[in-house]
Amino acid sequence: MGKKILIVGGGAAGMMCAALLGDDTTMRVTLVDHNEKLGKKLFITGKGRCNFTNACEAEEFLNHVLTNPKFLYSALYTLDSDRVIGLFESWGMKTKVERGRRAFPASDHSSDVIDALRRQLVKNHVDIRLHTDCRVLLQDESTGRVIGAVLFPAENGSLPARGEVVHENAALQKGPSVFQLHRENAEDRAAVEAAFPGGEIFEADAVVVATGGISYPSTGSTGDGYRFARDLGLRVTKLYPSLVPVTCEEDYIREMQGLSLKNVELHVKNGKKEIFDEFGEMMFTHFGVTGPLILSLSAKIGPLIGKKPLRTWIDLKPAVTEEEFSERLVGIFEKNPNKALKNVLGEVYPARMVEVLPEVAGIDVDTKCHDITKGQRLMLVQVTKRFPMTMTALRGYNEAVVTKGGVAVGAIDPGTMAVKKVPGLYMIGEVLDVDAYTGGYNLQIAWSTAAVAAAVLKDL
Ligand SMILES: Cc1cc2nc3c(=O)[nH]c(=O)nc-3n(C[C@H](O)[C@H](O)[C@H](O)COP(=O)(O)OP(=O)(O)OC[C@H]3O[C@@H](n4cnc5c(N)ncnc54)[C@H](O)[C@@H]3O)c2cc1C
Repeated sequence: MGKKILIVGGGAAGMMCAALLGDDTTMRVTLVDHNEKLGKKLFITGKGRCNFTNACEAEEFLNHVLTNPKFLYSALYTLDSDRVIGLFESWGMKTKVERGRRAFPASDHSSDVIDALRRQLVKNHVDIRLHTDCRVLLQDESTGRVIGAVLFPAENGSLPARGEVVHENAALQKGPSVFQLHRENAEDRAAVEAAFPGGEIFEADAVVVATGGISYPSTGSTGDGYRFARDLGLRVTKLYPSLVPVTCEEDYIREMQGLSLKNVELHVKNGKKEIFDEFGEMMFTHFGVTGPLILSLSAKIGPLIGKKPLRTWIDLKPAVTEEEFSERLVGIFEKNPNKALKNVLGEVYPARMVEVLPEVAGIDVDTKCHDITKGQRLMLVQVTKRFPMTMTALRGYNEAVVTKGGVAVGAIDPGTMAVKKVPGLYMIGEVLDVDAYTGGYNLQIAWSTAAVAAAVLKDL
């Protein structure tokens, strides 16, 4: 009889693993997800277009991975972005590569990515179980091997509460999400049934945890993989929302909500050390700032920002020097001596900034241009080249593209994705302590780690 594989989580990693495994007819692959459909998070990726990978070289790819890039070496060489594009094409999805080598389905519909994967699952007879919540892993007490799981119905999206199941036989119980038993002992099986009424005991030769992180929990990211890991004695590193907007202290930031800036340079220092200096786009909101530049920054400051507010500044005119910008202002003031400052600054700033910049520089916006002193002009220059923002917090997981942190990779064999100390258990995708910038890198991590596990499980 073929080996039985249980994959927990029908997101990017779980679907890819099942799709690659399912073509082996000696396997019986079951994919469970507590959602009502597969790939719920995939559907909202890339603003509904799904930037499913980045068509760059492996080395460059790893430069975009923020945490534990080395861990991903063999995974990337097992399935790199070229091969991911090739796979999707071979599965009937046309693709295209845009600016920054971001790859998308040619249709601009993320649903095409999900459909391509789903077609493979159906073609390969993968047993897909939706509305199915994996709450407990079963572990053989004598060998430590994971031998299956307890599955529960999760109807209409109402997931059973976590951590509430407690069995009176504490010796059998190792944390609420892992249950130890003797595989051959019928009494122990009865104990599992008694401990988890309504649950289905699903025996498997291997269990693959592909449960994702905890960002956008509405897509099913309940953090169960972290729970399994902790209850098995694995380390889960500190978690942070990442690729997420940031809250700022100053009222003047909120005054500019809705304003987008292009081609600005954001600088951040931690003490004397400059930790961020990048060029790009950002936007002001009712709470602070967002946009590509800010999301990239957020991926680096999680551990810092909780401790103290971060002083940051934007160079609003990175293409010109202070002297050049000062000269430009002199020209404007000389041309309009009797006009109020607020009526001329539109020549150099977006409308929303015209009143804010003088306010930050401590200058009355009604001051006539011929009354502006050299000191005031230099203050305006200073505020333009170093526009200050105090960042106080990252916004929450509800708005975070990914979770930073996860199952410590030291516990995982990078060549197989097997949990070193727990035979029969594999972990793939965002549940692991790996995360990257935006640009298709995070999904590539899911695809590559899934491919490694699939390759090894075929030889089980
Ligand atoms: C708004 C948004 C946009 C994004 N855009 C992009 C992009 O364009 N490009 C990119 O590279 N990345 C993007 N990402 C990140 C990317 O979506 C994730 O990194 C990726 O989906 C992680 O894949 P995963 O399979 O590990 O987890 P997920 O895709 O989150 O899948 C995990 C699955 O496990 C299921 N599950 C969890 N616990 C259980 C359980 N106990 N029982 C049963 N099922 C369970 C969940 O329901 C879920 O379906 C985006 C993320 C968000 C939130």
